[in-house]
Amino acid sequence: MASVSKAAKGFSIDFSGKCVIVTGGNRGIGRAISEALAGAGARVAVIYRGSKDAVQVAETIGKENNVKCKAFKCDVSDAELVKKVFKQINDEMGPVTGLVANAGVSVVKPALELTKEDFDKVYTVNVLGVFNAARAAAKLWVDAKYQGGSIVITSSMSSQIINQVASGKPLTQVFYNSSKAAVSNLTKGMASEWAQYAIRVNAIGPGYVETDQTSGMEKSIRDHQAAQVPLGRFAKPHEMAPQTLLLLSDYASYMTGQEYFVDGGQLVF
Ligand code: NDP
Repeated sequence: MASVSKAAKGFSIDFSGKCVIVTGGNRGIGRAISEALAGAGARVAVIYRGSKDAVQVAETIGKENNVKCKAFKCDVSDAELVKKVFKQINDEMGPVTGLVANAGVSVVKPALELTKEDFDKVYTVNVLGVFNAARAAAKLWVDAKYQGGSIVITSSMSSQIINQVASGKPLTQVFYNSSKAAVSNLTKGMASEWAQYAIRVNAIGPGYVETDQTSGMEKSIRDHQAAQVPLGRFAKPHEMAPQTLLLLSDYASYMTGQEYFVDGGQLVF
């Protein structure tokens, strides 16, 4: 198994003077992105749903990197609340220059057993929540006539493929997979509409990443999945940060409407 490069932790583009909102920024992939942004000098607003330690996590990230980093409790599925909280962030910490729409949830259950509640649980966060956050950020920028806003959405390689847990046996998360396919298309649509305001919208598509979302996976399934990745392992959360920071930055000024996969080569199969 290949070892994880520590060098990725030191990856940095200068974000001094920038203010970025990260939804789901207190845990997993989002936390790693918040840390990388703070390490690069950005002020970071961490959106969380309910984790008790989120305020502390944000304070620690801020202290360790000598930047302002603050947690805001906000359910991204509530459009009005998102609008209000984003305005508050813009007033307190802004002007906001970037958004990472990362919060997401999964329901793993055979398709024959899925319910309307399962659908709502997944789609109101993964699709509607992403849209709510993206629109609230875009509205701030359009109102302020700010040019150069960048949105990066955390999609998934499962926007493209149905993972197999064993030969011919799919991992049972059809709402999750289809929600990520929706997000993939949403990325293109918003990028196309908002290009007129110089707002860029892109997505990253992670493969398997070691977070709470994957920690409950049975060992046999996990080993089977890792064996399907050309690099032979799941990613560490911080390995999702470089592509995200690049897309948020002005270096990516001609990149929009794309989904970039960070999957250890899995989609090559
Ligand atoms: P985690 O389960 O570790 O964390 C989820 C985060 O989303 C938490 O910060 C949580 O807040 C937040 N969140 C969930 N629902 C809401 C909501 N309604 N409003 C606001 N915040 C919410 O997730 P990961 O880090 O694993 O995943 C992050 C993103 O990456 C997701 O979109 C996921 O689908 C995607 N992804 C993950 C992969 C993986 O293998 N882990 C692979 C491919 C894509 P709180 O802590 O308060 O609950």
